[in-house]
Amino acid sequence: MSATLIQQFLPGYPAHLRAQIAQLHAQGQLGHYLQQRYPETHTIQSDKALYDFCNALKQRYLKNAPLLDKVYFDNRLTIEKQTLGLNAAISRVQGGKLKAKKEIRISAFFKTAPLAFLNMIVVHELAHLKEREHDKAFYQLCLHMEPDYMQYEFDCRVYLLWAALQKHQLDAGNSVRATLPGSKP
Ligand SMILES: [Zn+2]
Repeated sequence: MSATLIQQFLPGYPAHLRAQIAQLHAQGQLGHYLQQRYPETHTIQSDKALYDFCNALKQRYLKNAPLLDKVYFDNRLTIEKQTLGLNAAISRVQGGKLKAKKEIRISAFFKTAPLAFLNMIVVHELAHLKEREHDKAFYQLCLHMEPDYMQYEFDCRVYLLWAALQKHQLDAGNSVRATLPGSKP
């Protein structure tokens, strides 16, 4: 199971990196690894605070990008769906003119994630204001806003993997307990 999850959460990364993470997991050290590297949490819990955080980054690095209309935490974006952030351009008619409104949604999962990972996903969605595809120009823009973007993206995937492994262990534990009473002959 853990091998499948590792494959699922770290696709496209070199095999030796996946092996390293698998080893940390086997040694029960994955949580410790993340905790040591990313001790800094954050207090951004409301949509208003998230908007301010996004907008400050946007004003600093992407002044010419369109104004952010709405930014909010979304409970429907989950690890299982592998959708952690979304951005949308919604066209609305306003005063006889068509206006594009920019919207960013961030998975509510990031409320409790380390600051570096919240920062990473926000940078990712902001970069999409200018670049649609995950191409070279897109990643250059991400690196412009966060020089450690690549490392954070990898470690964020490790963090998500760790959360999924924890959940899986918990589910397995629950099902064992649940089946015990009925397991008598
Ligand atoms: Zn993207």
